[in-house]
Amino acid sequence: MCNILVIGDTHGEWGYLASLLLYYQPDICLVTGDFGWWPGLGELPHLALPREVMQHTQIHFLDGNHENHQSLLAAAPRGSFTSQEIAPNIVYHPRGSLMQLPDGRRVFFAGGAKSIDWKQRIRGKTWFPEEILRPSHLPKELPQADIVLSHTIPSAFKVEKYADWGFFDVRYDFSPDKSQETLNQVLQACKPQLWLAGHYHRRIDGHFAATEYHVLDMLYGGLCRPEGLPCTFWLSGGPGIQRQSPGWALPHQAFIPLVENASGLYACADMRELPWDLARLFAKRRTMYRTQKVDGIKGLVPREADSFLNCLCRFHWDPLAALGDRKRDPT
Ligand SMILES: [Zn+2]
Ligand SMILES: [Zn+2]
Repeated sequence: MCNILVIGDTHGEWGYLASLLLYYQPDICLVTGDFGWWPGLGELPHLALPREVMQHTQIHFLDGNHENHQSLLAAAPRGSFTSQEIAPNIVYHPRGSLMQLPDGRRVFFAGGAKSIDWKQRIRGKTWFPEEILRPSHLPKELPQADIVLSHTIPSAFKVEKYADWGFFDVRYDFSPDKSQETLNQVLQACKPQLWLAGHYHRRIDGHFAATEYHVLDMLYGGLCRPEGLPCTFWLSGGPGIQRQSPGWALPHQAFIPLVENASGLYACADMRELPWDLARLFAKRRTMYRTQKVDGIKGLVPREADSFLNCLCRFHWDPLAALGDRKRDPT
């Protein structure tokens, strides 16, 4: 059995990604774009993720809008349709490429989408016009596929991206994204049973004709939500019981069993349950963090993934001992 975990936009949040992968230990993790591939601007995943993660999991991704498209095109020119291992254990699936899963199912990749905030970005550095998915980026004859992985979704699904967003900026470009029309053609030709995507930064599950689709939430908030991990979808396999796995940032409901059964470190948990010893340790080691509020749950967010990871790698924390200390502390 090959455990394959698909995950929504990671945006270079390697600390969170490490946490999730250490916890579930899939054989393959597939990211549906906005992976955070920013050579020269951000830390690269194979350098940021700890060795324990890379030993267990091969990381695959397709391109979203927020990536350095020039770098990706240099590795996989348009029309090659060939997946590339662009760094050790990091595989990039360009638009129009295919992957066969161990169970025989064929996955078709169709990355790309429009950045609404492109006017606030720097062309050639933080924004690339190549982000838009066009029919010319795909094979002339689109193949039949069991599964399609894309960044945005076909407009035929009729899901409004910004319907429930609470903020608008006059500089944002809300004009239609041509990538979605291209994906309509992919939908018509590939007729997949399953379609997985990201980009919307929220979880949406639905059906269109014979296609079941799941738009995955971004990684950032999903970990803090008590109802589960809406940023993830298991293509095959599943989590099973892996309570011996160390966890660094955990879904809320996984915190208690983990404290009872394993040793590890936690970066994201309900503040009320975070042992003070650990909070003090973070502070002492100058790991930057701040609180965020997602669906009423407060969590700790590492602002600098590298210092956060360095801090965790150097120190092995025993949660039972820490909780014991806390009980003795009347404050
Ligand atoms: Zn996106
Ligand atoms: Zn995104």
